Amino acid sequence: MPHLIANLQAIRNQIAQAEAQARRPAGSVQLIAVSKTFPADNIRTLYQHGQRHFGENYIQEWHDKTHQLADCPHIIWHIIGNVQSNKSRLVAEHAHWLHTLNSEKLARRLSNQRPAHLPDLQVLIEINISGDPAKHGIAPEELPALAQAIAPLPRLNLRGLMCVASHTDNSDQLRQQFTQMHSLLAQLRPHAPQADTLSMGMSSDMNLAIECGATMVRIGSAIFGKRDYPNAA
Ligand SMILES: *Cc1c(COP(=O)(O)O)cnc(C)c1O
Repeated sequence: MPHLIANLQAIRNQIAQAEAQARRPAGSVQLIAVSKTFPADNIRTLYQHGQRHFGENYIQEWHDKTHQLADCPHIIWHIIGNVQSNKSRLVAEHAHWLHTLNSEKLARRLSNQRPAHLPDLQVLIEINISGDPAKHGIAPEELPALAQAIAPLPRLNLRGLMCVASHTDNSDQLRQQFTQMHSLLAQLRPHAPQADTLSMGMSSDMNLAIECGATMVRIGSAIFGKRDYPNAA
């Protein structure tokens, strides 16, 4: 799968360039390779080229892959899709990061279900930054109350915020949304002084997100190619 390696290298270069352009330190942006709908073999190929962080949306599909990838013990799994209550246990027991925390109820379940022998689950609160009612995440106004409820829970470490920006070419609109995320992160700090993470930017809007302070970008199609499974988001 030589295209995967070339795509990975191109994205790494693009991130390095965007960091330099934004006068941010090299390595300050973490690449999450979003592997939803793609087979475990593709993940293994990237793993063999040094990629460690992978993002998945569909809990059952992801859980199946964790079994197929037992030979890649250093993968760091990021759940970036909506988590139904009945799937929270798989996340609590097998994920490293959850980017889509959106309720106190889910947070309490995860806190109770996270095994004590594992490190804390690293969590991000998902913000519906576009205000699109079809999108997941909480409204910005709800952030202080949710942060206050989540921050004290054991076995969760509230690390920051995540968003999916509007699907648009309008860079002013995107910049406005990413900039607002950056100021919302500051609102999180009184509750979670350790919060340092902004997960924002996808294949189409990665450069702008990095310019506006993203510390994680979630890149799928630019690495793996077009998704054409029926359930592809
Ligand atoms: C699918 C997905 C991505 C990756 O999107 P691309 O446009 O393929 O880079 C990033 N974030 C979330 C939440 C996704 O669902």
